[in-house]
Amino acid sequence: MPELRKDPIIGRWVIISTERGRRPSEFLPEEVKTRGGFCPLCEGNEDKTPPEVFAVRENSSAPNSIGWTLRVVPNKFPALTVEGNLSREGEGLYDKMNGVGAHEVVIETPKHDETLSTLPTEKVILVLMAYRERILDLARDPRVKYVLVFKNHGAAAGASLEHSHSQVIALPIIPKRVSEELDGAKAYYEYKERCVFCDILRQEMGYKDRIIAENREAIALAPFASRFPFETWILPKDHSAYFHRTSPAQLEDVASLLTDALRRIDVTLPAFPYNFMLHTNHVDEKDETSYHWHIEIIPKLTKVAGFEWGSGFYINPTPPEDAAKYLREAQLQGNRI
Ligand code: ZN
Ligand code: ZN
Repeated sequence: MPELRKDPIIGRWVIISTERGRRPSEFLPEEVKTRGGFCPLCEGNEDKTPPEVFAVRENSSAPNSIGWTLRVVPNKFPALTVEGNLSREGEGLYDKMNGVGAHEVVIETPKHDETLSTLPTEKVILVLMAYRERILDLARDPRVKYVLVFKNHGAAAGASLEHSHSQVIALPIIPKRVSEELDGAKAYYEYKERCVFCDILRQEMGYKDRIIAENREAIALAPFASRFPFETWILPKDHSAYFHRTSPAQLEDVASLLTDALRRIDVTLPAFPYNFMLHTNHVDEKDETSYHWHIEIIPKLTKVAGFEWGSGFYINPTPPEDAAKYLREAQLQGNRI
């Protein structure tokens, strides 16, 4: 069973895979990784994944057979496992707990050569709806404190399979990155009695230079203190703390803007990999006021290196005002949004 260990100095948890200890020879430089022709996520290979936990199927086809639009399956090599009671223990000054949680794969399309930026918006809406279903279901487990949805697109962004997919991880703790955001937003709210994200939206909509695209319910912008070149955030315009409680109209417009932003990134930075993360208030909270859910897209253009690791500072070679301008002016073919 994987193990969660807490750094005693800064309180950050890490997941240690204690069972399948990887030997030095098992780590290959990225360019050496070869891809076989076989893809376990393609339609027709349903028996090559663990049984689905959620699917969108037309014509009421049977679970784990062909005829699906989207499937969610447990990860075959999970970072955390669903079995077992959560036990927390000390080992001298160290804290650890067993790696209880869940790790699922959202297969966004049955077709191998489609991506989130080539799918029609209606299909991307289904992807966001699948995230919502899985967050709601996983949050019912009292051991779960946070559900993180993220996507690795391209080998250099950490994707081990080419087929378009995203991942859902249910964690027994609130991750540090998320709690920093939750705490920061709460402190701002206590001081000003306003949501910091709503204030950012208001200011950016007046200023315009960092806005990439918008529609009725959502906005895509390059954040003022972008850590990475072409970092893009997508937020619902109306205040909303919990992704899983968002309105259908908001969800549709966020899906449409997510597709739009990914297409702009595709056109501006052809073939570059990216990651995105969904940040939402954690499931146990009852606070609707201070946090505002959003998606953070990080194109993989720079490498996190010594200065960043040593300082927690990021050096961003592209000002967000320039990045927003490039993305705003991207010529989208057959604009489908
Ligand atoms: Zn495939
Ligand atoms: Zn807000």
